[in-house]
Amino acid sequence: MKLYVCMMAMMHLGNKGALTRGKDVGKAIEMPNYFYIIEHKDGICLVDAGVECTANETPVPEGDPISVLKKLGHEPRDVRYVILTHMHIDHTFYMSRFPDSVFIIRKSELKMAWWHDKNEGGYCYEHYKDTRDFKYIQLPDDVDFDVFGDGSVVLTDTRGHSAGHQSVLLHLPEYGRIMLTGDAASLEDNLRFMLVPGTCTSIGKAEESLQKIQHFEDIGYELFFSHEATQKLRLFPDFYE
Ligand SMILES: [Zn+2]
Repeated sequence: MKLYVCMMAMMHLGNKGALTRGKDVGKAIEMPNYFYIIEHKDGICLVDAGVECTANETPVPEGDPISVLKKLGHEPRDVRYVILTHMHIDHTFYMSRFPDSVFIIRKSELKMAWWHDKNEGGYCYEHYKDTRDFKYIQLPDDVDFDVFGDGSVVLTDTRGHSAGHQSVLLHLPEYGRIMLTGDAASLEDNLRFMLVPGTCTSIGKAEESLQKIQHFEDIGYELFFSHEATQKLRLFPDFYE
């Protein structure tokens, strides 16, 4: 089993404080946008589906999921599962390019994305309007879901930042245990200072999710934050196995 950490763009945010409530307000920040490819003997997973690059994002050349899969010798139809941590705008842009895959998303997230409350920002309907008839495994909240039934890729509830956010627990045969936090902890500061990640559906749930992530770090998981520029990761074409 291999994990590829793929950076597809650098996002430029004028106010870090938007993500770290009260800390570093007004400070500009650079944030990588990652997606992940897992090659497992029983199938390929794509975790998160990329960002649309506009004036606020600098793309990595040929860094999008389609191009990276191609470099690995795969077509989109070879991807068995597309796992979305959540469906905010910076994680969904390439969703419609995977009509042959099974999407694994929390049901509460799908519902919020398709008909979000007026005050619930962050979703871009245009990205997934053509995916209504795709195949979905719609997970209920709270449960853990063992994708391949062998403990190597387990999805766990970390809602709060969004209605149905989930994080990914990986058990790599050689490297060991990694948690892809998604935006339940966008930045390392979210965890170190217990600051909920930006606008949240539920601040209480977001805090519980930070505590849950802290627990996984305490028991030996290495945390890969979703938008932390200071974290040194092995980036594609390098990998973890
Ligand atoms: Zn994000």
